[in-house]
Amino acid sequence: MAEVQTVEGPLDAQELGLVLAHEHVRFRDEAVAAQWPNRYDEQLEMAAALEAVSAAKERGVQTIVDPTAMFGGRDVNFMQRVSAATGVHIVACTGIYSYDYLPHYFENRDIDVIADHFVEDIEVGIQGTGIRAGFLKCAADAPGVTEHVEKIHRAVARASVQTGASIMAHSMPAVATGPRQVEIFREEGVDMARVQIAHCGDSEDVGYIEGLIDAGVYVGLDRYGLEMYLPIDKRNATAAELLRRGHAERLMISQDFCATIDWFPPEAAEVFESDGAIRNWSMTLVFDEVVPALREQGVMDDAAFQTIFVENPRRWLAG
Ligand SMILES: [Zn+2]
Repeated sequence: MAEVQTVEGPLDAQELGLVLAHEHVRFRDEAVAAQWPNRYDEQLEMAAALEAVSAAKERGVQTIVDPTAMFGGRDVNFMQRVSAATGVHIVACTGIYSYDYLPHYFENRDIDVIADHFVEDIEVGIQGTGIRAGFLKCAADAPGVTEHVEKIHRAVARASVQTGASIMAHSMPAVATGPRQVEIFREEGVDMARVQIAHCGDSEDVGYIEGLIDAGVYVGLDRYGLEMYLPIDKRNATAAELLRRGHAERLMISQDFCATIDWFPPEAAEVFESDGAIRNWSMTLVFDEVVPALREQGVMDDAAFQTIFVENPRRWLAG
């Protein structure tokens, strides 16, 4: 029986239920948070996380996949407290979230040594706990697949081959990182059916997304609410066309919501909302607006809903 590692321990994959495939219960720079902890209010962060996850639970969500890796302030104890308080399963990851920067520590060690760090998180536990990573994470963004980014991807790939853990790769369609990311995974012998290329939904280019699907990976339409990258109507048009073309079995729909995020000063949230950079960004937007819109267009029936929110995340995580 296939199992998935959650922050509350191993779980029969059949018990994952309805899954949001890409959300963050907290996102912050771990170095800043470690050096100036008084600039962060953990009670407020916890309250925001509980509110977001509880709202998702009210929509039927049973599991949240949280791809917060190194440099996103990954903290499995925090995640575990959120999961225990809400009763929602949370799947944590291992990996490095960097668009280029690599600490000297990893710069001066080889790919297999980096992979060993990830394997330890998957097989033993994270941050001195017995909480094990459920998948691997890496990222490529505006700078493209730089030397450092490639090194991280290869380490993630080798850890996947060694352990059987699945991979989520943050991508940037605007600079077409996806095909190169897929190419690296293929060169390293990764099972493409266990790869998810995140943020494909930032693109309106259905052909580009279909090219990735043809490579055998899952694609994330996972930034609903982040209008700054693409407005919801255009995201829905892309989703609808992919569904019309029969790709339900390759799609993940989510919001990349961060219950709290430290990238901007607190007052920026209001500005983003008033200037339309974000709109109704939350852990419930896809259920409140996206699924109803896709149902109305006749491209999402109950079977497609089940495929996207239950079966795809389960197959990606558990094989
Ligand atoms: Zn994310």
